[in-house]
Amino acid sequence: MAPLLVVEGLSKTYRSQGRNTPAVCDVSFTLNRGETLGLAGPSGCGKSTLARLIMRLVEPDEGSIRFEDEDWLSLSGQDLRQNRQHMQMVFQDTHAAFNPRATVETAIGEPLRIHNIVPSRHRTAEIARLLERVGLPANFAKRPVLELSGGQRQRVAIARALSTRPSLLVMDEAVSALDVSVRAQILQLLVSVQRETGLACLFVSHDIAVIRAVCHRVAIMDAGTIAEHGETRHIISAPQSQTARRLIAAVPRLQTHKDHDNAQP
Ligand code: ADP
Ligand code: MG
Repeated sequence: MAPLLVVEGLSKTYRSQGRNTPAVCDVSFTLNRGETLGLAGPSGCGKSTLARLIMRLVEPDEGSIRFEDEDWLSLSGQDLRQNRQHMQMVFQDTHAAFNPRATVETAIGEPLRIHNIVPSRHRTAEIARLLERVGLPANFAKRPVLELSGGQRQRVAIARALSTRPSLLVMDEAVSALDVSVRAQILQLLVSVQRETGLACLFVSHDIAVIRAVCHRVAIMDAGTIAEHGETRHIISAPQSQTARRLIAAVPRLQTHKDHDNAQP
């Protein structure tokens, strides 16, 4: 079966006020259905730009994207709007991601309505089902989103993303602002949703420990390019690039783990 997502030669330079900032330079990778690919790298290396290019929130200068066997960059207007439901994104900032007046019900109900996922008479039941899926009680529906905790809001963001039954979820530092125990719960939720639905995930994080917890493969980004990529455990046990080594060194627990693995009998 063809990969779900095939990115080839993707490049983007930001141009503003006479300044050129190359953010993504000739990046290629593939992502299979149901797979989680990590995108790791230091701040400013182009991770969010790459995620936004794939979401078509930013247009590339060069390159191609095939998604669900379609030329994703050639879609526009109604076709793009319709196909967007197959690719959803969850952001780091759970505040900015929602309309400040939204309730849980209106936040999740909107994509259901726009993409006509279920008949309107089934919408309330569908919202309750999605809330249950992300571990929130159905009576959360009436709560204002901004009154929830960060972890609860991220669960609502995931429920909203799942509402259109996407085949790809792009998570951009989606657990980075959460404290450790809440982060672990959200990662566990992601894995269980994937197991159940076959959802693929492009998982962006500067934190290689988080990547290790959920990603089958990882691409290490540095200054807009992919420095190395491969199976997550291989890269963590034998990093080839300076960038990967630095990311691993930033997580003392992984260092210990690695030393242990390499210990002579
Ligand atoms: P990351 O997510 O890895 O931190 P980004 O994709 O946000 O990296 O940024 C990559 C580079 O592009 C950085 O140098 C950043 O300053 C620049 N950049 C990001 N967004 C914009 C923008 N809208 N306009 C101009 N430069 C930008
Ligand atoms: Mg970023």
